[in-house]
Amino acid sequence: MSEQRLRQNARQALLAAVPRPRADQAGQLPRKAQRVLDAELARLPASARPALACRKGCDLCCHLRVAATAAEVFALLDYLRQTVPASEWPALAAAINERAGQIHALSPGQLLRTNLPCPLLVDSACRAYPARPLNCRAYHSLDYQACLDSFRNPAELDRGHPQGAALARVHEGVQEGLSDLLQAGGNDPGRYELVTALAEALVDDEARNRLLAGSRPVFERALPL
Ligand code: SF4
Repeated sequence: MSEQRLRQNARQALLAAVPRPRADQAGQLPRKAQRVLDAELARLPASARPALACRKGCDLCCHLRVAATAAEVFALLDYLRQTVPASEWPALAAAINERAGQIHALSPGQLLRTNLPCPLLVDSACRAYPARPLNCRAYHSLDYQACLDSFRNPAELDRGHPQGAALARVHEGVQEGLSDLLQAGGNDPGRYELVTALAEALVDDEARNRLLAGSRPVFERALPL
């Protein structure tokens, strides 16, 4: 199957899973997108699923900019609220706010060229792994050394790393499908820088209402990407 077809199929699979999207149900879309993504990836033949260099304990890509829809930001926040002990919240909120402040202080060009650890990292692992946004899920590599070289030279954006073509197309298709569903339901389909959006979601109780009411933009201070 062509790469283009893989992408279209993944997009269509998500659209078919939610035939009548509604603004007030946008909170359910990230979970549906994750399920469709997992199913579409599982359908790939073994030849299209090369061995990944990604391993638990490698957090290089968690120092890069992450783009997420508002629906994904709230799904992530809900997961954190369910799983992070109350005693750890002050430190977590402070870490999110501190990192958001650093990100706001950077120009878009500087942000692309600066390694900043995600505040959700604990011992080099994501504390919200099951609820991480599609952008985080899509990031994969076939070559650890290439990732390390990029990490050590963040200003050189053309270094990059090899990816599985079929895997990348399926991820793209699901991300497009999520954007389509948000658009069709009347929700904000825009993508925001993850940490600044999380920081705003933590303090602005109205932001979730804006998402579910179909208001745009959902976030007023987070960095749009
Ligand atoms: S949300 Fe999780 S997977 Fe995504 S950058 Fe942060 S720590 Fe990494």
